[in-house]
Amino acid sequence: MIDVAALRAHAKSLLEKGTVRAVIGYRKSTAGLLAEPATIAEAAQADDLIFDPTCVQNLALYLVNDKKERAHSRSDDKRPVAVVAKGCDSRAITVLLQEKHFPRESVHVIGVSCEGTGVVDARKLAKKLDGKKALSVTFDGAEAFSVMTEDGAQSIPAALVMAERCLECRSAHPTLSDMTFGEAKADRTLHAPFQAVKARMKDEQDDRWSFWARQFDRCLRCYACRSVCPMCYCEECVVDSISFAVLPDTTADEKADRIKWIERSPARSETAMYHMVRAIHLAGRCVDCAECERVCPVNIPLRLLNTRLEMEAFETFEYNPGSDMNAPTLTSSFRDTDPNSFIR
Ligand code: SF4
Ligand code: SF4
Ligand code: SF4
Repeated sequence: MIDVAALRAHAKSLLEKGTVRAVIGYRKSTAGLLAEPATIAEAAQADDLIFDPTCVQNLALYLVNDKKERAHSRSDDKRPVAVVAKGCDSRAITVLLQEKHFPRESVHVIGVSCEGTGVVDARKLAKKLDGKKALSVTFDGAEAFSVMTEDGAQSIPAALVMAERCLECRSAHPTLSDMTFGEAKADRTLHAPFQAVKARMKDEQDDRWSFWARQFDRCLRCYACRSVCPMCYCEECVVDSISFAVLPDTTADEKADRIKWIERSPARSETAMYHMVRAIHLAGRCVDCAECERVCPVNIPLRLLNTRLEMEAFETFEYNPGSDMNAPTLTSSFRDTDPNSFIR
């Protein structure tokens, strides 16, 4: 079981000694059940840190944001930032290190184990509680969550209310860490990896297209899925117009000719293009943290797209994103033994 007091003591020690400039972790939210990300810079605030099944966010995103903020900061503080990382978060950090988005010495990873379970799916839990409001969720042994409501605590099998990605998780323990809390439980017996996407692939091709056409028609193009993804860090995204300086002598034709790969309108063709381009750009990089799907305001099942490519990377190239920071990335490497029958 995770020793949260020890995690807080470690964070406090890092801040007191000045080893890190801040600790990015989770604290209890005042706005709802799910924990909220917190950047803690004072040792006294370390006691606010928590780790429980409500800590769903992938905090690797905050390392990407930290880099952006520091690019505009005058601070010359070169100390690393510490981050609390579940297995999926640590895989995301590993991919960012493989891609040299930041150097290894700039981050201190505080790994936390999911202890044989994972994080909660707030929608599944609300359904299970049938109108009762969950006040807190904690780990309860290796296969259950203890859920507190106004009627008291009850133990619920974790598999009933866990996030789908946790049910299929192949590595519920950090692959990269400087200090780890909790045990590595290798004997998880939940759903088989890629189960959801494999089930969908059994459908006829026309049915699959109808399914996705319906999903794309519901997409608002709010780009929340892009904003929450630690792997979507391009300074200029292909879906945005390429920026260029409009000068007093810029003609109307020049403005009209600016590069625009995808129209902003949520027409099906444009939305399909957005999702296809994004999925391809995430091939061999997506770590299935499922944050994109969680934040989607209209519940588009984005995991199905991303895990389809993750499955391809795994089955065709034995590639597992975020498993080894010293390995070359999928798309930057080639082995003589790589299958190539699909190249015509
Ligand atoms: S996907 Fe795996 S590592 Fe991530 S929260 Fe779920 S069980 Fe933990
Ligand atoms: S978060 Fe959902 S609605 Fe928004 S762009 Fe992504 S898929 Fe579309
Ligand atoms: S595409 Fe979605 S599941 Fe994959 S890393 Fe980004 S947010 Fe996580």
